[in-house]
Amino acid sequence: MNDRGFASDARLSRQVNLGRALALIRTRPFISQTEMAQELGLSKATVTDIVGALKRDGLLESVGRGEASPAGGRRPRLLRFNPGAAAIIGVELDMSGTKLALLDLGLNVLQRQSIPAPPKRDADAVLARLISGIRNCIDAHPPKAPPILGVGIGIPGAVDPESGVCLFAAKLGWRGVPVAEIVSRRCGLRTVVDSEVRNRAMAECSRGVAKGVRNMAYLQVAGGLGCALMVDGRMYRGATNRAGEVGHNPVVEGGPVCACGLKGCLQMLTSEQGVLPLLKARVEASKDTQLNPKKLTLQGLFDAATVGDPVALGMVNDIARHLGAGVARLINTIDPEMVVLGGRVFEAGHGLLLDNVRDAAQPLIFDRASRSVRIEASTLGADSGVMGAAAGVYQRLFEVPPAFL
Ligand SMILES: [Zn+2]
Repeated sequence: MNDRGFASDARLSRQVNLGRALALIRTRPFISQTEMAQELGLSKATVTDIVGALKRDGLLESVGRGEASPAGGRRPRLLRFNPGAAAIIGVELDMSGTKLALLDLGLNVLQRQSIPAPPKRDADAVLARLISGIRNCIDAHPPKAPPILGVGIGIPGAVDPESGVCLFAAKLGWRGVPVAEIVSRRCGLRTVVDSEVRNRAMAECSRGVAKGVRNMAYLQVAGGLGCALMVDGRMYRGATNRAGEVGHNPVVEGGPVCACGLKGCLQMLTSEQGVLPLLKARVEASKDTQLNPKKLTLQGLFDAATVGDPVALGMVNDIARHLGAGVARLINTIDPEMVVLGGRVFEAGHGLLLDNVRDAAQPLIFDRASRSVRIEASTLGADSGVMGAAAGVYQRLFEVPPAFL
């Protein structure tokens, strides 16, 4: 290997060590350099170099001295991660109102705003409005405040996160839109783009109910049915970034036609776009319901089910049954430690759905007696999309695995 090769290896090794150190520091309230050297298996000189670099960037701060070891000696200087060293803009693109937030490096939301969707869904119109919102956020950021390091964006569709190109978004009618390149050029910030469902899954794994879980599936029950898979601590994307389209597995022969062209897709039996038309047909055919077929909403459905409306109860049971079967298929396919359910349909019906989904899934789980996979509700709610988008930027900048975000 030539000298240049060695130099590159040294740089790479230093970058890897910086990422490992940052990951370790973030999991502790505070830590000493001696502990860092022991736990990372690095020399004291290397740790001193890393700590110097992280302090110069403001990512580490001193918090006084700890207790001396029982053997005596000097009291160690303690250090901790400084989440306020910089900020990241997180975006979740949604045609019912895009969420934009400014977050610190600890993924705490500092400010949030909603950007109304433009009347048209074409990429030029949607991105122009989004870019204007991002630039307003940048312009309002005080010059002396910690710098904004980048923009993370979640899109309802398939995305190549390396290039930041939206490959296909049926809801928006987009195909091959270079979102990261356009936003980065117009806003002057590094831009990381991923699918909204993967961003939400990332947030659950780093800050939510799945923190520390290495194998999980996240099901987003919203306008459609999205799914993201975390396998061995990494987001599983598949050969063409389209892994997780479980919503488009047909599960009922001759069921309602889906936007993908197939009939009876799981999405059409569980998500908002599928459930409301099904509910309308049932309400119109029944005399035994308080629901008004002209004013159907998800919240109205779950409220009516809570007070025992038979049509609403039947619909909620069907949603839970289909979701439960979908959850069991996921469990049988990837063998996760946990399945997390989120999205606005699930959140609206959480109290009614969670136990019913668990009950529906259990009998269908292979060898269920000898495993203890958990089926849980998302704990992050509506902020999970912007948190995951910001986590994607942080992960790209500092090369840390999701469990250490
Ligand atoms: Zn479909």
